[in-house]
Amino acid sequence: MIEIASLKSKNLSFYRTTHNFKNYGEVSTIDQFCEYYEWAKTNKTKIFLLGNGSNTLFVKKEVRTLVLKNNLPKETKILSKSQLEVSSSVLVIDILRYCYENALDSFYYLASVPATIGGALAMNAGLGKRDKLSIYDFVESVTFFDAADKSLKTLNKKEIVQGYRKTIFTGLTSKFILRARFEFSPKKMDGNPISDRRKWSKEFQDYSAYNCGSVFQESNYKIICKLKGLRIGNSSFSAKTPNWILNKSSSSMPILWLIKIAEVLHFLTFKKLIVELIKVE
Ligand SMILES: Cc1cc2nc3c(=O)[nH]c(=O)nc-3n(C[C@H](O)[C@H](O)[C@H](O)COP(=O)(O)OP(=O)(O)OC[C@H]3O[C@@H](n4cnc5c(N)ncnc54)[C@H](O)[C@@H]3O)c2cc1C
Repeated sequence: MIEIASLKSKNLSFYRTTHNFKNYGEVSTIDQFCEYYEWAKTNKTKIFLLGNGSNTLFVKKEVRTLVLKNNLPKETKILSKSQLEVSSSVLVIDILRYCYENALDSFYYLASVPATIGGALAMNAGLGKRDKLSIYDFVESVTFFDAADKSLKTLNKKEIVQGYRKTIFTGLTSKFILRARFEFSPKKMDGNPISDRRKWSKEFQDYSAYNCGSVFQESNYKIICKLKGLRIGNSSFSAKTPNWILNKSSSSMPILWLIKIAEVLHFLTFKKLIVELIKVE
């Protein structure tokens, strides 16, 4: 049984903008996902799978896309001390805590990221482009349900990752990540990498208003630095952290205008700009 309701909320994106979601549902089984998929096909509506909303920008006041919140049971199976099978609704930080308690190497640089495992796998979440480190360094396989051909599939990293912050799952999709298998190797640790990363994040990243972290996955650093502090209404580029928009507005319009200005400046100077946020209409 599925339930599609309309919902007014500011809690579905970390920008905390308020929207009227015309079609909102929660998905906790494959059968439900199939039903939602069929409903979307019949009603000619796009589907958006929502993790924790930490990389999601809802564009319009009224959101017509069928927004499906991942409500799978949060399960972590310990296959061996270093091997876990984790459902996609589990938070990244919960896996990092397990790794730290068991002296295992992990994606500790994601300790400051409020993501679900599903969202992190869909986005190929990781460190900056030059570091070449991502959650997939620890992934053995990802299992997902593909509503297009109604089949359960398990793929490895090579078959999934398409580039920096890009996978076969990124964006609007019919593929619902259910779970993943991780392998972590033992590591001798000096100090606590989780609190170290959080300390670093507090020092260098701007938490003075709502944000979704980095806005662009590729940009010109000089232009991005010039935009620091630029304000439109109650949203602004952070004066502290480059490539970071802070939001206090209930509307996403000011955020979209800030992104537009960055796009125009890149266009006029023939520089490449790729938005990292997933925009949902
Ligand atoms: C303070 C802050 C710091 C951040 N720092 C980083 C960083 O260091 N590195 C980094 O990479 N990112 C960073 N981010 C961005 C963001 O946290 C990541 O992109 C994260 O992976 C998004 O996870 P989520 O669960 O919030 O996904 P959402 O924002 O809900 O969704 C993101 C994408 O994943 C898809 N998705 C989610 N769940 C599923 C699923 N089960 N099946 C299929 N598709 C799915 C969505 O459809 C969408 O395309 C940061 C964000 C914040 C707020």
